[in-house]
Amino acid sequence: MTDYDVIVVGGGPAGSMAAEAAAKGGAKTLMLEKDRDIGYPVRCGEGVGAAGLRKFIEPDPKWIATTISKVRMRSPDNTQVDFGLANAGYVLHRRLFDYELANRAGQAGAEIQTRAYVDGLIMENDAVCGVKYQYMGEQRSLRAKLVIAADGVESRVGRMAGMRTATKLKDMDSGYQATVGNIDVDQEMIDFYNGDVWAPGGYLWIFPKGDGMANIGLGVNGKYAHECHPHDMIHGFLDKYFPKARILTSVCGGIPVAKTLKLITSNGLMLTGDAARMVNPVTGGGIITGMVGGQLAGQVAAESIQSGDVTVSGMADYPKRWHKAEGKGHEAFYRIAQGIAEITDDQLNKIAHRLVKTPSDKLSLLKIFTAVAREKPGILLDVTRAFAGV
Ligand SMILES: Cc1cc2nc3c(=O)[nH]c(=O)nc-3n(C[C@H](O)[C@H](O)[C@H](O)COP(=O)(O)OP(=O)(O)OC[C@H]3O[C@@H](n4cnc5c(N)ncnc54)[C@H](O)[C@@H]3O)c2cc1C
Repeated sequence: MTDYDVIVVGGGPAGSMAAEAAAKGGAKTLMLEKDRDIGYPVRCGEGVGAAGLRKFIEPDPKWIATTISKVRMRSPDNTQVDFGLANAGYVLHRRLFDYELANRAGQAGAEIQTRAYVDGLIMENDAVCGVKYQYMGEQRSLRAKLVIAADGVESRVGRMAGMRTATKLKDMDSGYQATVGNIDVDQEMIDFYNGDVWAPGGYLWIFPKGDGMANIGLGVNGKYAHECHPHDMIHGFLDKYFPKARILTSVCGGIPVAKTLKLITSNGLMLTGDAARMVNPVTGGGIITGMVGGQLAGQVAAESIQSGDVTVSGMADYPKRWHKAEGKGHEAFYRIAQGIAEITDDQLNKIAHRLVKTPSDKLSLLKIFTAVAREKPGILLDVTRAFAGV
């Protein structure tokens, strides 16, 4: 006897997409979220690409803060390389966006329970067959044929099932972001500061949020975590460049810039989104890739429920479809990230000095990455692969 076919743990983009797809596939689905609100607190720069987003949902002014059409890349010596990208992307209001995705899951038939903190799994014969959770101070449990862990970085639920979800320090960025007001930045431009001087092993971003606000954050690679603190770096940056800015809210969080986990299923359990390490290792962006992974997990979950086989082999289509959709490109991006990590600040300055001579209407992301690959020829093939959408 089970209470649900599928229980999804976590109400982020990956969880809501999984719940929607599972419910649409006919599975009796419940999504559990530990926080009081879906989508809050926001731990995210909120930037997404337009093309990736449109595959799932039509952009709605309700949850779009700004539309981005320009990019600025800064080198360590602050040389600015600008170029345009028509319909490049958006800065979201994640709180409202995540609500929208959860709402769609609900409309597809999934039940949703917030304030439900999953703190254990029901295991039988080495297979997951339900969850234990705390709800308003009460300990509860529910049985399910299949559990989808969409519980974010280093999935605790995965670990409860014996999966190895810990990430090496070198594959984890430590992120800190302040949403600030009283700031005057171009509302159509995302601005990246590259090099160790700004953010060792990562980058610093300014994403405009409209109404004189912006998300200003940075990710520092775990290797440097003992040397520099992202919080202090952002505060130092704001004091120096935007002394009039006022911090409205701030967040910190880990960003897995790693390859997808080798195993993303075990008997009765799937991992998806950040929990499965589906984040783009170059950009640290995981909203869209999490949506891709979540939807695939939900679809395969419904199919496995129908076929009555929720073992690793019965769900083998999930890792296969993920690798077909994103996996190879994801691995190429990982190798590019490793190559970029070896480029010195002097080399980055050299690249920027060359690129700045090219008129901005002749520049593109591919041209920038190709210029980087001239300094690091080992990544040229992967740049070609990644941009060919392999
Ligand atoms: C500082 C920072 C900036 C970022 N900027 C960007 C960006 O600009 N663009 C981009 O694409 N990505 C960005 N990311 C990454 C992005 O936020 C994540 O990749 C994305 O949110 C992953 O979605 P998810 O659904 O897998 O996980 P999450 O969004 O983390 O959702 C997991 C959910 O599970 C819930 N949960 C966890 N444990 C339990 C439990 N035991 N029981 C019940 N619920 C649980 C959590 O409360 C949470 O709601 C950023 C990350 C950080 C830290």
